[in-house]
Amino acid sequence: MSGNPPLVDSHGRVLRDLRVSITDRCNFRCLYCLPETEAAQNFYRGRWATLPDSKPIARDWVPKQSLLSFEEIVRVVRVCVSRGIEKVRITGGEPLLRQQVERLVGMIAGIEGIRDLALTTNGFAFESKAHALREAGLRRVSFSMDSLDPATFRKMTGREGLASVLRSLQRARSLGFHPLKVNAVVIRGLNDHELESLAAFGEAQDLSFRFIEFMPLDSAHAWQRELVVPGSEILARLQARFSLEPVISENRSETARRWRFASGRGEIGIIAPVSEPFCGHCNRLRLTADGRIRTCLFSVQEHDVRDRMRAGMSDAELSDYLTLLVQGKEDRHHIGEPGFVPPERSMSCIGG
Ligand code: SAM
Ligand code: SF4
Ligand code: SF4
Repeated sequence: MSGNPPLVDSHGRVLRDLRVSITDRCNFRCLYCLPETEAAQNFYRGRWATLPDSKPIARDWVPKQSLLSFEEIVRVVRVCVSRGIEKVRITGGEPLLRQQVERLVGMIAGIEGIRDLALTTNGFAFESKAHALREAGLRRVSFSMDSLDPATFRKMTGREGLASVLRSLQRARSLGFHPLKVNAVVIRGLNDHELESLAAFGEAQDLSFRFIEFMPLDSAHAWQRELVVPGSEILARLQARFSLEPVISENRSETARRWRFASGRGEIGIIAPVSEPFCGHCNRLRLTADGRIRTCLFSVQEHDVRDRMRAGMSDAELSDYLTLLVQGKEDRHHIGEPGFVPPERSMSCIGG
């Protein structure tokens, strides 16, 4: 990091982690993110009579010219790193749909000062891109995989993708990506019967397997609290079945509570933003694919840096603008409180 002051918000939180969404496009239609298949709509409709109007299945992606170019993305990341950002995660939408993603990874990997560069993917296209990504300098990857049952996987993601994701995991292992993380969003009545089998898979495959509470970030705004399986319930179920030892982390801004299997192979993490919020230690900033800075997952306001850069904003001005934005970082989310309004855009646009 250079001698520039770090990005500190008005609650004293120092920002170290930048999530960069490089596309809003996706080849999956996850029920908790882009529930735009008939099956997803039926799942929600079948549960509540008073759902918000279901959105049309076809959707508009951000036009290509509105996306940040690779050079623009790298510029924002570089300025953030000069202000103390150390961790960068490339995400989306599905980041592997962005053409020449490996070139972008190489450009970001070359920024001095990044201590940790990772990518989150649904895994569908990873197998074919893995080698190029590795060569470009990527060392860490997280996969999303909500089920080991092809039918449930299809229900959750809207696609026949399980076999591809499993092959991608093996490919990542054989190329030396480490640690291998897998994320599963848990939804009551959909994949919660698989908690134990997913964890057993994590142990057998020596993975870091993370169970995530469902957050109100779906494009249909159909989230209901009853669908959230609280982290405490997930833990109780897994403790009843496995011998787990807590992993004590020095990193206070870590979102997952972690346990390792007594066998010494693999670990589980529980990410419970709804039932056990961790906003007090949040150190994250987000950049959307169309060049907006978001100071919180649940921000209702976004801040445009694309047009400012295109209008000639200098790096120093961009850095000053970030200082200002970070001052307004939300102290926490308000899920479940009266008047809570979910963000307009879904997780696929925000960048999870
Ligand atoms: N497409 C890639 C993938 O699915 O891994 C990267 C983007 S996706 C938005 C990033 C992460 O957000 C995924 O692990 C996904 O499970 C998670 N996610 C999406 N919608 C969510 C929701 N409503 N609640 C909790 N997690 C969500
Ligand atoms: Fe696509 Fe990822 Fe959202 Fe699923 S969670 S729809 S894979 S962006
Ligand atoms: Fe950070 Fe906002 Fe998520 Fe809380 S809800 S952890 S403040 S991004």
